[in-house]
Parts: sequence; structure tokens; C-alpha cells
Amino acid sequence: MLILLNCPKCQNHLQGENNSKLFFCTSCNLVYDVGDSKPKMYDLFYVLPKIKRDYPQMYFPFWQVCSQYKIVEDGEQGLNPQTRFFYIPAFFIKNINYFGDIGYYITMNNIDLRTGGRKDIPVFPGDRGLTDSIVYPLIYLYKDETTKRNNDAIEINIDHKEISVALIPFYRVKNDFYDSVIYWKYPSGALI
Ligand SMILES: [Zn+2]
Repeated sequence: MLILLNCPKCQNHLQGENNSKLFFCTSCNLVYDVGDSKPKMYDLFYVLPKIKRDYPQMYFPFWQVCSQYKIVEDGEQGLNPQTRFFYIPAFFIKNINYFGDIGYYITMNNIDLRTGGRKDIPVFPGDRGLTDSIVYPLIYLYKDETTKRNNDAIEINIDHKEISVALIPFYRVKNDFYDSVIYWKYPSGALI
């Protein structure tokens, strides 16, 4: 595994751990994904907390994928392609069924995440590169659309337009984390 210690652009020390796939440069606002053989670079955004609390904060990285898609039902294409932002945790949650997939929740409820957050907050290690994450927009849509229509004979054509990483603030309360968007609780043991 390749470990990037310094930002190739500005030489600043990168945030990341031994097993990380993502390395963050808070000075260039860039993230390097070393999941594949050659590191790839993406823009980094700092999200403001929606729910404000006085607890210490930590950023959790999410892939932010802007995609265009069309649903094909009974061989018929929907009229216009739709565009939406998808959020996929770039870290692993044990037993996501139990703790809830916050990425799915934010995506499907079209929650508006405002950027402009502080930079001096530590970042939780990102162990899930784009290769492991990019299937999720389709999984999210398929799950949502087949439930809505009670029809699993649909096809979805999707085209990813823009990929970046959003850092979403979480709060640390004793041994648990709470996100600042919907305030779900994640015991630290649930985060691999
Ligand atoms: Zn840099």
C-alpha cells in the first residue's frame, strides 16, 4: 500500500493513517485517493454543522458524487434526466442496518449541506476509496425507486458528472459519535 505523507502540490503534511485510502491536504483543499495503483486527486469541501452542539468535533469524510440519471420502466425512458448529489461514507460502519446509512438518508432526503466549515478540526480516517464507493449511487436509487414503485423491473442509467469529498462534522460525546446533520448516534466501536 502506498502511503502519501506530504501533499505533492504544497508539501504540507497530509492527514491519514496507515490503512487509509484517503489522505487530506487541508491547505490545498484536496484529497488523494490511493485506493488504486495511481493516487487520484479530488476537491475537498468543509460542511457546516446543521445541528449545533458544544461537544468536540471531528470531520467524517463522505464521497460527494453529482450524477445524472434516467429511469427506464417497462422499456420506457423517463422524460428528462435528473441530477442529484449522492453521499457515500468514505469510512466503514459495522452493521449499517442497525446504525443506519447516513449517506443514504442525506441523499434521499435531499438534505442541503452548506459548506464553509472550519479547517482546524481533525478528520476521521477514510478507509473506503472511490472504487469501493462508486456503486452506491445506483444501489441507493434502485432501493428507493423499486420501493416507491413496488416494481423491481426497472433499469437505471446513470452518469457521474462530478466527484469530490465532503467533510461532515460529527460530535464526540464520551465513546460515541453523533453526526451534526440528523444527530444519529454511532458508538465508536461501530466505526471500523
Ligand atoms: Zn497541499
